[in-house]
Amino acid sequence: MASLFTKVLFALRRIPGVGPTSAERMAFHFLSMKEEDFSFLLGTIRDFREKTKLCPVCGLVSEYSPCRICADPARSERLLCVVKDVQDAFRVEKSRAFKGKYHVLGGLVSPLETVREEDLSIDRLATRVASGVDEILFAFEQSVESEVTIKAVTRRLSAFGDVRYSRLAVGIPSGAGLEHLDAETLKTAVENRTPLTAKGAVKAP
Ligand SMILES: [Zn+2]
Repeated sequence: MASLFTKVLFALRRIPGVGPTSAERMAFHFLSMKEEDFSFLLGTIRDFREKTKLCPVCGLVSEYSPCRICADPARSERLLCVVKDVQDAFRVEKSRAFKGKYHVLGGLVSPLETVREEDLSIDRLATRVASGVDEILFAFEQSVESEVTIKAVTRRLSAFGDVRYSRLAVGIPSGAGLEHLDAETLKTAVENRTPLTAKGAVKAP
């Protein structure tokens, strides 16, 4: 039977980014922590997990419903940043360049159809756009999936002819996810975003 030490290493290594050495250091650290510090750590993680929910409006994770960004009257409802997932929204937010609201799609359409249009929250996006949106910024990496998704979204929203579309400025390396960009690069990419036509092609400047 596996020892408790082996089990705790096994559990810790299931956390992304935790390798064998970090898992060992954490396990020994738990043993040396003061009881109150250890309880605080465990209690906070449990609270975070239990109280954090998806925002029903934008799909971000938050302990508030709607989330603080959706509820913030200082942020424009009329500018939406569409992102693949919650982590990308947090990355854009950290760049401090974006003053609108977010919409988490829940993935990108895959050309092999492992993720389809109907798996994404495009209907909810259409509802938001129907109540008045001037611009949609696609904060996607440069990939085939991103192109297919932009086409799918703009096609679905084509009834709302007065919406402008834009995407992060070129300069993002092809195939690089937003996680590879530092906040400053992402800020520049948001500030110099490129306009798109409704068909998803880049307009002449
Ligand atoms: Zn929200």
